[in-house]
Amino acid sequence: MPDLSPAGAVPAPPALQPPDEALLDLAHRRAAEWLDALPERPIPPRATVDRMLDELGRDLPEHGEPADEVIARLADRIEPGLMAMGSPRFYGWVIGGTQPVALAADWLVSAWDQNTGLRNVTPGTVAVEEIAAAWVLELLGLPAESEVGFATGATTAQFACLAAARDDVLRRAGWDVATDGLAGGPRVRFVVGAERHGTIDLAGRYLGLGAPIEVACDDQGRIRPDALREVLASGAGPAVVCLQAGNIHSGAFDPFVEACRVAHEAGAWVHVDGAFGLWAAASPRLRRLTEGLADADSWSTDAHKTLNVPYDCGIAMVRDGAALRHALSMHASYLQATEVGADPHEKVAELSRRARGVPTWAVLRHLGRDGVADLIDRLAGSARIIAEGVGGLPGVEVLNDVVFTQVCIALEDDAATEALSARLWADGEVLAMTSRWHDRAVVRFSVSNWGTDAAQARRTVAAVERALVAVRAGT
Ligand SMILES: *Cc1c(COP(=O)(O)O)cnc(C)c1O
Repeated sequence: MPDLSPAGAVPAPPALQPPDEALLDLAHRRAAEWLDALPERPIPPRATVDRMLDELGRDLPEHGEPADEVIARLADRIEPGLMAMGSPRFYGWVIGGTQPVALAADWLVSAWDQNTGLRNVTPGTVAVEEIAAAWVLELLGLPAESEVGFATGATTAQFACLAAARDDVLRRAGWDVATDGLAGGPRVRFVVGAERHGTIDLAGRYLGLGAPIEVACDDQGRIRPDALREVLASGAGPAVVCLQAGNIHSGAFDPFVEACRVAHEAGAWVHVDGAFGLWAAASPRLRRLTEGLADADSWSTDAHKTLNVPYDCGIAMVRDGAALRHALSMHASYLQATEVGADPHEKVAELSRRARGVPTWAVLRHLGRDGVADLIDRLAGSARIIAEGVGGLPGVEVLNDVVFTQVCIALEDDAATEALSARLWADGEVLAMTSRWHDRAVVRFSVSNWGTDAAQARRTVAAVERALVAVRAGT
């Protein structure tokens, strides 16, 4: 018989008040105010973290304060420290905003608070995610039998896919990671394009793959199949090859048909990082960029970039679902598991997780197939307007072939290019960040926001022109 006598002098708990509707209305109102002001708000934050810490109050309160005061304090004080990442003229990184239908769905997800790891336990949100998963595969032209996991972002989606990849190529080499670990096993050749995203290396580190082997790229950052063949032929043993749909500087897509053939001839698993670019496959006009995409073995993307759902939502897709589950599933007697291999938690690194696929379902339901294509075309079309307009300004060079949503420009030297970006930041109407590409400072426009249309793109060109005049005048 367990001892149920109270531990020490803990008093009986007082009754809690039911949730206060006015509190949620307050949050809703403050959110609406933020969203209303967003398109015209200066984009960069106006406060440092230190000022924010002072404003918010650093000391742990001894006693609590009413919930409405907490929410009002948060909304009042944090505002100068917020970056208008959802602005239709925010091009700083490949980020994207939030479509209203996705935000509304996300609010419901928070209110429902469903721990969406198990089919038997939360059938409502699991069903929504299963429909969203099937729709994503269909829109992207990927094999319908693929398993899909909703992760926190492309980084963790890559992790899931590459975990499946690593374990599968090692298993084929007679080595079982789940029982034997990695030490003493064959070395996996982790082969990547010279211009892969840094998070590919990070996912490789999570997985103990070590530093990747780089393959030369062409002038747009696309992997060269001849160089890939050479790299694969120069060694032996298990291999994982990472390709890319959407280079963050040029927007370029690797030549999937040839690269997949070369990699598969060498027995490698092919993964495609398409954090933002995979969505080109959902546009009949742009689909040709992704030709051969479905020849790969796994794909990772974000819904919180091109599709414009709120953070955080990445999507892992693996043709051989058994390989994915083999890598990531776990079992415990207390979990009400459905049957081996069917539960959402078996496809991502997380066990407990919010129903983050629900906003993706809402966006796809709201836009439909043609609306998704329009969204992708609008982003790419706006990028073309920016490239043509900004590229026509004196002394400005567009460095990439603008095939998708990325525009990389430079002035005559690095100092001038950096001055332009700094001027844009100071003006606050358009945000585009500097980077380095092919040994030059560049200003990068990543067109990722659902609200960036032709009018916003033209306004962007005008703002860049004003900034350029100011830079030239030294003011
Ligand atoms: C953004 C990005 C990633 C990482 O995605 P997160 O959602 O930030 O984890 C990976 N690859 C590419 C090409 C990206 O643009």
